[in-house]
Amino acid sequence: MDTEPRVCDLCSLPVIPPGFPLNTTGGLKVFCCEGCQGIYAMLHEAEILAEDVPGHAEVPDLPHSRK
Ligand SMILES: [Zn+2]
Repeated sequence: MDTEPRVCDLCSLPVIPPGFPLNTTGGLKVFCCEGCQGIYAMLHEAEILAEDVPGHAEVPDLPHSRK
């Protein structure tokens, strides 16, 4: 298997698995810390893929038909 250590895609420091991954249009990026992940996400906002789109289901305001 590939035992090549990953380095932070922002600061190039070695990443301790599992690190802080970020799904982007350019592939999966891995960061050494939450800070780097956050900065990258901020700089490459348009490339970030949402991993889990939360079911932001707005509950429709149904009229209560009580009897
Ligand atoms: Zn880093």
